[in-house]
Amino acid sequence: MTRRKMLVGNWKMYKTIAETRSFAEVLGRNLGKLSAEMDFAVCPPFTALQVAKVVLPTQVAVGAQNMHQSKNGAFTGEVAAPMLQEIGVKYVVLGHSERRQMFAETDEAVRDKVEAAQEAGFIPILCVGENDAERNSGETMTVVARQTQIGLEKARPDGDAIVIAYEPVWAIGTGKTPSPKDAEKVIAAIREVVVVALGETEAAKTRILYGGSVKPANIAEFVAEKDIDGALVGGASLDPESFVAMAEAMGQVSGR
Ligand code: PEP
Repeated sequence: MTRRKMLVGNWKMYKTIAETRSFAEVLGRNLGKLSAEMDFAVCPPFTALQVAKVVLPTQVAVGAQNMHQSKNGAFTGEVAAPMLQEIGVKYVVLGHSERRQMFAETDEAVRDKVEAAQEAGFIPILCVGENDAERNSGETMTVVARQTQIGLEKARPDGDAIVIAYEPVWAIGTGKTPSPKDAEKVIAAIREVVVVALGETEAAKTRILYGGSVKPANIAEFVAEKDIDGALVGGASLDPESFVAMAEAMGQVSGR
């Protein structure tokens, strides 16, 4: 089963509308470097989503960084699926560790968001990953298995309708990473959980990305691993030249 490789930029709380336009301009000049065999996306803040959809080249899809599970309601400061549908986003990042840690998102809330996002026709990018303490106490597999299993409880049994991102919390924005072999081991274990949740055939289609301090210099070694289907990148995705460099490095990885 060949899965299309994927590069996703998570811009977090960075970039205004004007900065999004500048990013798109640089990307537009480098389109020849984006392989037609791969999928690309960036996830700007809500305020820049609409302009991103308009100015980004069609090869680069747009994703939201979060979404509320209700279609509407008295939820001050939140954004619902119909609002994102109008913009035409393709992906929604759900359960990012910053949402789980700083905004107290539970596994169950993430599960309900996955269901709502799929109902709206988006492809959720379900983030899972252990923190430093969990890693040090040997709980990595237990934590990612639990987050994946609950996250998929209400998901459609369709491997094309979901993307999972394994992001060890201790590697996000720190410059530290697991070795590609260690990331591969955890991702292979996540795929086993997906087998139980979605069935063998769909799990073989499900793309599982690695995320955490990925940059142009290290992306190739991660995506060269058998079960790692691409990367979710924060800091290094903000600079369009760096985004293009990562796309090129991924494109050069062969033997999958
Ligand atoms: C992220 O925010 O999803 C992420 C992986 O961040 P960084 O690449 O900056 O570690």
